[in-house]
Amino acid sequence: MSKSSPQQFTPFLPSANPQAWLGVMGGGQLGRMFAQAAQSMGYQVAVLEPSDDCPAGQVAQRLINAGYSDGQGLDVLAAQCFAVTTEFENVPADSLSRLSQHVFVAPDAHGVSVAQDRIAEKSFFVGCAAKSGVQPAPHKVIASQADIDAIGDELLPGILKTVRMGYDGKGQVRVRSREDVRAAFDSMGQVACLLEKMLPLAYEVSVLTARGADGQSVVYPIAENVHRDGILFTTTVPGPNVSDDCAKKAQAAAQAIVAELGYVGVLCIEFFVLKDGSLVVNEMAPRPHNSGHYTMDACVTSQFAQQVRAMARLPLGDVRQHSPAVMLNILGDVWFSDETDATREPAWDQVLALPGANLHLYGKDDPRRARKMGHLTFVAPTLAEAQQQLNAACAILGIAP
Ligand code: ATP
Ligand code: MG
Repeated sequence: MSKSSPQQFTPFLPSANPQAWLGVMGGGQLGRMFAQAAQSMGYQVAVLEPSDDCPAGQVAQRLINAGYSDGQGLDVLAAQCFAVTTEFENVPADSLSRLSQHVFVAPDAHGVSVAQDRIAEKSFFVGCAAKSGVQPAPHKVIASQADIDAIGDELLPGILKTVRMGYDGKGQVRVRSREDVRAAFDSMGQVACLLEKMLPLAYEVSVLTARGADGQSVVYPIAENVHRDGILFTTTVPGPNVSDDCAKKAQAAAQAIVAELGYVGVLCIEFFVLKDGSLVVNEMAPRPHNSGHYTMDACVTSQFAQQVRAMARLPLGDVRQHSPAVMLNILGDVWFSDETDATREPAWDQVLALPGANLHLYGKDDPRRARKMGHLTFVAPTLAEAQQQLNAACAILGIAP
């Protein structure tokens, strides 16, 4: 635990009468797992989401069918709940500001607006580098042809990323020359972009942290992530490549960043570890994160239970990991056995026969390739055993290990 503040905050305790409600903006799988954690602690959950069949809506006690900027819907959510959180970073910051006039909102509009805009995010990282000890990749804003003309050679080859709405590697193009940047900028409709220098990555890690309204913060163990086709493939904790020194630096950086942001709630920060061992901060997600799913089965307090605690102003939970763990994302691809559109249910019985298997499916009934349908976490007394079971699951599911 880090420094505590003398300020006291009244917690929002679970209660049967009158029922205590927590709200969440967004109806995806993160909202679903948040709702499940909140419900297991005795809260009722209301979800605000425009689509009527959504993973979180299936489990919440109330689904408010409204757009994320719908004033009436937001007012209904605020009237129902005593605290509201968000499950995805593209929720309009203005909506969070509006909600905060009536209820406690965590994370707040400020933290979310920094994380949802790559320019604001990079400037924030640069601004707190003296405290965090880490810098982002060298970068430059590309908003016009003149910006492209002014690109220095040191930023190439690079990656051009849209400033807003990027996820799972979408909204980014790898570029080698100024001409590539011009073509990529045009292909993205000349929306504001950020050019980042392509760095020699050794591996990628993420640090999940949570900060309470009282200023206390906790940091989970460092997670090592492998991406495939721009989508998180596996998360391994403890990370096989992560040195003690790297873990210490990343954890200290995460604590400095969350404090500097004045953030309340769960925040996940992605870092690159370069071939020379140095640490570079990439981006942050103002919510529980896919790379933190392992905490559900391998830590004392899951990232979702932690989010409940932070937004309800309860003491933060123990982040201790009790088992080595490997998490595998389950994409819609495993419902397809060949190139045709025919789907079949994967052999979950065989997967669940493997020791240490924990299956989480998100209630999505239309599998599509590259769509996140669920995840599997293997826990075992040793990391090697967990990895062995994960490889066996990949063989059953037809996933190249
Ligand atoms: P997500 O939201 O899924 O985490 P994203 O679409 O927001 O991803 P980034 O995380 O910035 O985008 O980039 C996706 C991946 O591209 C990274 O995980 C990393 O593998 C690679 N990448 C991004 N930036 C760089 C860079 N500057 N140098 C080298 N590789 C990079
Ligand atoms: Mg990323």
